[in-house]
Amino acid sequence: MPAAAPLEGECAADVAIVGGGFAGLWTALTLKNRRPDLSVVLIEASICGSGASGKNGGKVHGYWSSLGNAVQVLGQDGARAIAEAGDWAQQGIRTFASECNRDIWWREGGNLVVATTSQQEEKIASVTQRACELGAEEHVKVLSEKEVQARCASPVFRRGIFYPDAATVHPARLARALRQAVLNSGVSLFENSPMLGVDPGKPCRIETSRGHIVAREVVLATNTALSARPEIRPHLSIFSSYVVMSEPAPEQLASMNWIGNEGLADLRMFLHYFRKTEDDRVLMGSGSGPVGYGDNAKARHLTHDRASIRRAEAGLRRLLPELRDVPLARAWGGAIDVSADRLPFFKTVPNTRIHYACGFSGHGVNATYIAGQCLASLVLNERDRWSTLPFCTRSLPRLPPEPFRFTGASAIRSAILACEEADEQNLHAPAVARAVAKLPKIFGLRIGIR
Ligand SMILES: Cc1cc2nc3c(=O)[nH]c(=O)nc-3n(C[C@H](O)[C@H](O)[C@H](O)COP(=O)(O)OP(=O)(O)OC[C@H]3O[C@@H](n4cnc5c(N)ncnc54)[C@H](O)[C@@H]3O)c2cc1C
Repeated sequence: MPAAAPLEGECAADVAIVGGGFAGLWTALTLKNRRPDLSVVLIEASICGSGASGKNGGKVHGYWSSLGNAVQVLGQDGARAIAEAGDWAQQGIRTFASECNRDIWWREGGNLVVATTSQQEEKIASVTQRACELGAEEHVKVLSEKEVQARCASPVFRRGIFYPDAATVHPARLARALRQAVLNSGVSLFENSPMLGVDPGKPCRIETSRGHIVAREVVLATNTALSARPEIRPHLSIFSSYVVMSEPAPEQLASMNWIGNEGLADLRMFLHYFRKTEDDRVLMGSGSGPVGYGDNAKARHLTHDRASIRRAEAGLRRLLPELRDVPLARAWGGAIDVSADRLPFFKTVPNTRIHYACGFSGHGVNATYIAGQCLASLVLNERDRWSTLPFCTRSLPRLPPEPFRFTGASAIRSAILACEEADEQNLHAPAVARAVAKLPKIFGLRIGIR
């Protein structure tokens, strides 16, 4: 699939979208679906899907598994509203996958979140209580240890929670399919065309190195790069997530009896998330990568941190010991955009026609579909079931400025990691680590809270 030509000279459009990840691509497709007459142009700094969208863990779920945080941030009605929006998104991606038989490895097997220590097991009660309060029992099912083991046998798995609505996908295949759909819908796509600046005039003007775009509406879907914008910076921090991929291991998967399509995760704060692939590999992710400083989303430690890769591999060997001798084929990492309340936000820069989506907080495959719908509604000035969601309407808490943000988040991350690793080995973490790990709760910060 050759890259689209870069932008050269002037281009005029009704809507210009910057960023060819899931958020930008869903927005472009939604706009053309709703208003085929609109002229839409999309520019991407590299090639579509080259950011987090093409290299994530491929676990796709909405917000039934985040009710604890969602209720605290949004209240019961808000939490239910975003959980339902997550269902609409699953339905939207399902429809996209089945139209034209797109081979994106979309598999709806649910998500099984397992406790592997007694501390993790204690979290199950509060999750189920929240689900009962919201009348959401059919979305959140507690499984006994025996039921967990029947789905995937592991000596460390205890009880778990099963979320039936979840799915898995091959993320790069989804990105490529979306890119093709966007082209088919008549969007003008320019790759290898980084935006150098945007002027919020009437119309707006976007500069690239060899051209510019004049457009009435602009959508910024550039993920962590958005943290450089002054109105977003106080609400967004950068973390990182790492993944290892095993070589194919069909016999080991069969002997664990992992024959269903469920994705899995544990109940750590810096969780392990994992799934099988169509060719019998296991992808194991660890959401424990280092913190970024300020808006430096390109720092090397966000993509090349050996300790985080080792943690992902250790998770694979501990959680699935049948795979202890299976070699790794690949390992990689990437930056994630974590909002101050750990929920995404889709908004318009005040007094402009510039709209943006960010804050996916490591959980963007489902939520970027919602972003595409919400951004299309904001662009079209439509007050509908999307633009009235708390993702668009809530006000956001602020994070401390640098250098306090980086120093504080790094210290809390190290402390939580020390506690979680000690817990897995049945040891006590050092008292300092235990004290620092409690700070987010004491100060009401959402970072470090699951
Ligand atoms: C290792 C890893 C594992 C993850 N696992 C999961 C998971 O299992 N499930 C889940 O739900 N989420 C997961 N996520 C998060 C998820 O991948 C993201 O939330 C989601 O892909 C964000 O989509 P996006 O379109 O906003 O960003 P991106 O896919 O990063 O797209 C942004 C695009 O903007 C482009 N861009 C940036 N600046 C400019 C510019 N100036 N001009 C033009 N273009 C520009 C970039 O090149 C990029 O292609 C994971 C993330 C990582 C890194």
